[in-house]
Amino acid sequence: MRDLSLMTWKEIKEVDKKGSVVFVVMAPIEEHGWCLPLATDVIEGENWSRGAMKLIEEKSKILCYYLPTFPIAAASVNAFYGSVHFSMKTTFEVAYEILDSVRHMGFENIVIIASHADPDHQIAVIKAVRRINRKHGICAIAPMGSIFEGTGVEPAEDVKELEKRYGNDFHAGWVETSSMLDIDDNNVRSGFENLPDSDITDKDMISKRKQLAAMGDYGHIGMPRFATKVIGHKLNQNCIESICEAVINFYNRSGYEKYDDYFLFKILPLHIGFLKSFGKVKRG
Ligand SMILES: [Zn+2]
Repeated sequence: MRDLSLMTWKEIKEVDKKGSVVFVVMAPIEEHGWCLPLATDVIEGENWSRGAMKLIEEKSKILCYYLPTFPIAAASVNAFYGSVHFSMKTTFEVAYEILDSVRHMGFENIVIIASHADPDHQIAVIKAVRRINRKHGICAIAPMGSIFEGTGVEPAEDVKELEKRYGNDFHAGWVETSSMLDIDDNNVRSGFENLPDSDITDKDMISKRKQLAAMGDYGHIGMPRFATKVIGHKLNQNCIESICEAVINFYNRSGYEKYDDYFLFKILPLHIGFLKSFGKVKRG
């Protein structure tokens, strides 16, 4: 794998575009409770991309390239202290400009890793992918939305059991704390075992008011106390293997469609953030 930004334009011109894939991470600088840093989603996205690129190069002849992470993302709740969010429209436009630039270099396979599960972000990025695919023919995919919805490689039994019992873990809970413990536990502050649960149903997640209420004085939505490094390794590995499958299938233009099928994209009211009056980032 190679960082495109450390190459010269002449070197990039020589690259076998048909034989390669370009990865781009788009994720927010965003509060993640008392024990995780603002860059949590960026760190996760970079870890999953690197892991997937390594696996793809081991398993296939595909060459992997990547750009530096773009810390640009949309989110439905902007009022909590410490976040740098963008509107859905800005996120869509930035994603589209990145795709258009990379396509213009001649690359025919571009993967956006939108490592931030918020539907506002997923929809903005997927809309940009659909637009570039209409303009140039199929050349891009953003598989994280469908992976977050459960598409991909089957998780381990103990992970499935935890998901069944403590599934309402949406932000900086056991899922993300575990993932970060596995990547580098220096990034996780002590005391996550003592944080209170903030229980909220997936239905209530539609309401910004209820999300903010669940965050309380902490910022997390979920149950950080169940986090372990062992579970984190399984979660990260599962994500890496799912991305690898999505990308190899996309490269072959066969069997990738399920990774291009984000269920929530079809819910029209979730596109309301693209309207000017509804789409402003309200910081307080
Ligand atoms: Zn996150």
